[in-house]
Amino acid sequence: MKIAAVNTHILDYKLDQAFESASMRFERRQHCLVEIVCEDGTVDWGECLGPATINAVIVRAYAAGLIGSNPLETEKRWLELYNRLRDQGQRGVTMTALSGIDIALWDIKGKHYGASVSELLGGRFRDRVRAYATGSFRRDGVDRVQDVAEEVAGYVREGFHGVKIKIGFGVEEDMAVIAAAREAIGPECRLMIDANHGYDLLEALEVGRRAAELGVDWFEEPVLPEQIDTYRAVRQGQPVPVASGENWHGRYAMQEPLASRAVDIIQPDVCGVGGFSESRRVVDMAAMHGVRLVPHVWGTAVAIAAGLQFLAALPPNPPRRRPIEPILEFDRTRNPFRQAVVTSPLEHVEGVVTIPDGPGLGIEINHDALRRHALKEA
Ligand SMILES: [Mg+2]
Repeated sequence: MKIAAVNTHILDYKLDQAFESASMRFERRQHCLVEIVCEDGTVDWGECLGPATINAVIVRAYAAGLIGSNPLETEKRWLELYNRLRDQGQRGVTMTALSGIDIALWDIKGKHYGASVSELLGGRFRDRVRAYATGSFRRDGVDRVQDVAEEVAGYVREGFHGVKIKIGFGVEEDMAVIAAAREAIGPECRLMIDANHGYDLLEALEVGRRAAELGVDWFEEPVLPEQIDTYRAVRQGQPVPVASGENWHGRYAMQEPLASRAVDIIQPDVCGVGGFSESRRVVDMAAMHGVRLVPHVWGTAVAIAAGLQFLAALPPNPPRRRPIEPILEFDRTRNPFRQAVVTSPLEHVEGVVTIPDGPGLGIEINHDALRRHALKEA
């Protein structure tokens, strides 16, 4: 078994209506898929979190080191690629690009051995997972409070047990939005708030203290991801559990937040933290430090499939007869190719998603959709 080719696919869609988080404006949806072709004709898939065009450049740079090598030796391939850019890499897009490759290698391995990735990771603890809806980005030209209230009420009607809304635009506006969201979803639905590191410490403390009264499950990325000591101050200075991790790539980035208890919930993204190979290590680290793990997921159905395999194999922590069940982040913002890239969409039914049990990631790629949504190079 040898790798014959490594290809990238940049998918692109220009949004009719742009939307914003506290730190980013989305005019387009763009994601980078990784396709690895083996000499025996096996074709397998991965996805990279983050800027698609930059990820694609780095995946292509890694590719030369992969051609002719054995894709089943996932740990050897991971170390070779990591070591290649270790001196200048370690975190960021070098890791998100490596993640997309690693996911494709595990997809190959699953197909080769006729097992799902979750079985190869040690076994499935669950076949279905509850999803929570991520949305409520800021849109131009609308009444934000009303817009968010209507959007989250729709998620409850769809059957979601929880919603995550975007904040980080200013304390008073955000508090009005959080209150309106709670009112719209009722007292039972879980409500999470995500500032996308838009606050300074004083704002984060004020929002956390006030939002706690509205029943908030977690406060995601309150402050800049580089400032681990500020995370600790947020955690100690207000009552809402603090979550973060989508921007901490690799085990070394996870080490200080976990060991120093800077967060209550760690959120590795399989497509960013270093693929399945590195995710397993982060699972062990989180368990050792007694930190709850809820993965971040953002991308196409390939990323969702990777997240689902990871969730299937996530051991209950603590182990008990009625364990705390993990949940899937499910992006509900506009993205016409999210589910189109696979032949069988990974959709929810009443807020519950069934985890594929076919070989590898358990998905089939729709090549027409890849062509239809391919980035047209300028
Ligand atoms: Mg987030």
